[in-house]
Amino acid sequence: MTIPATLTGPSWDHLDWPFFDSSHREFATRLDAFAKSDAMTMIDHTDVDAACRRLVRALGDAGILKVATGASETDPLIDSRLVCLARETLAWHDGLADFAFAMQGLGTGAIGLSGSAALRAAVMPKVRSGEWLAAFALSEKDAGSDVAAMACAARPDGDHYILDGEKTWISNGGIADVYTVFARTGEAPGTRGISAFVVFADDPGFSIAERIDVIAPHPLATTRFESCRIPASRRLGDPGEGFKIAMRTLDIFRASVAAAAVGFARRALDEALSHARERQMFGAKLADLQLTQAALGDMATGIDAATLLTYRAAWRRDVQKLSTTQEAAMAKMTATETAQTVIDRAVQLFGGRGVRTGEIVEKLYREIRALRIYEGATEVQKLIIARELLKTK
Ligand SMILES: Cc1cc2nc3c(=O)[nH]c(=O)nc-3n(C[C@H](O)[C@H](O)[C@H](O)COP(=O)(O)OP(=O)(O)OC[C@H]3O[C@@H](n4cnc5c(N)ncnc54)[C@H](O)[C@@H]3O)c2cc1C
Repeated sequence: MTIPATLTGPSWDHLDWPFFDSSHREFATRLDAFAKSDAMTMIDHTDVDAACRRLVRALGDAGILKVATGASETDPLIDSRLVCLARETLAWHDGLADFAFAMQGLGTGAIGLSGSAALRAAVMPKVRSGEWLAAFALSEKDAGSDVAAMACAARPDGDHYILDGEKTWISNGGIADVYTVFARTGEAPGTRGISAFVVFADDPGFSIAERIDVIAPHPLATTRFESCRIPASRRLGDPGEGFKIAMRTLDIFRASVAAAAVGFARRALDEALSHARERQMFGAKLADLQLTQAALGDMATGIDAATLLTYRAAWRRDVQKLSTTQEAAMAKMTATETAQTVIDRAVQLFGGRGVRTGEIVEKLYREIRALRIYEGATEVQKLIIARELLKTK
């Protein structure tokens, strides 16, 4: 997205909040400058696959993917506040750049958590540099919210596993080099009989069954496994641990979906403020009308509330070293729902221009929608929060 002359970049007032230290402030400022530089803005988005590859390479060259993957195999720690700041900043500038960054982390999170040293050494440096693209393959046609209904199977065959089945809605599907795949190994019924594996795009028996087009174009596909034989050394963790590994990965990255939503919402508010200050009507500016001011007040308050929940979750994980299952779910639910409302308000303030193809608020309107669905729909987040409350209270 290009930045109108009246906008210089996201407002970073919240970097003064006590969740952050100087390393976070320095990173956000550096990334914001990078997102405005030719290295990012000159990337042509007409071909989404090519754009994603180039964005990932640019982020890798600038060292920014280290934030999503951990700095190195000896320093694998992921700082959630940096991940969230990265996603908030990139989402403000360019939804596809945010997506490209996030998938490198989500696609390899399980490898970093549970992969063997050899597997980590083979995959992580290539993903961190932007040479390889990564994907996370959990969902299936009949197993989205209901992960326990997973049918894609992996059966042991000597020192190999053979995978059969399909995964769908796989971000980076079709362009990824490495996939973290969850498949039923049958140690127990439901989620306790799932294991996690690493599959490479050139493994025999792996193919792309279908590419999927969505309202905000991103690389997305259904992947197929037909007698796909992979070494047992590519299993992540123990047999039957796959669901736990998936949830641990999502626990790291779920708050970052909230951060991306905050970035989209802040951009919508900035666009709305800029437009309302300029648009003349009824002998005044749109911004002078009290109904406009009420809308702007609601938008700004909602965004700050969502931002507080987001960085509370990230800070709790980084600093307090506590589980953030409940806090990340609260952040994801609130930020994505708030962002949808904020962006819708921004579209309304733009009038007819708001729905014109190519307008930034129109693009944001399409970008935000899927965030309320993936990595656990809002309804699923409510159930997670309630389950945690009932466990502890
Ligand atoms: C753009 C996009 C990218 C994605 N990327 C990935 C990816 O990279 N990897 C991956 O594995 N998956 C990915 N997904 C899949 C995503 O995680 C699923 O779409 C999501 O989990 C919902 O599953 P479903 O689509 O099967 O909907 P369903 O499970 O059929 O749910 C439909 C709706 O039912 C409601 N619902 C859910 N649970 C309950 C309940 N208990 N009670 C009442 N209502 C309920 C919710 O509103 C939900 O949206 C992606 C999806 C999209 C749209």
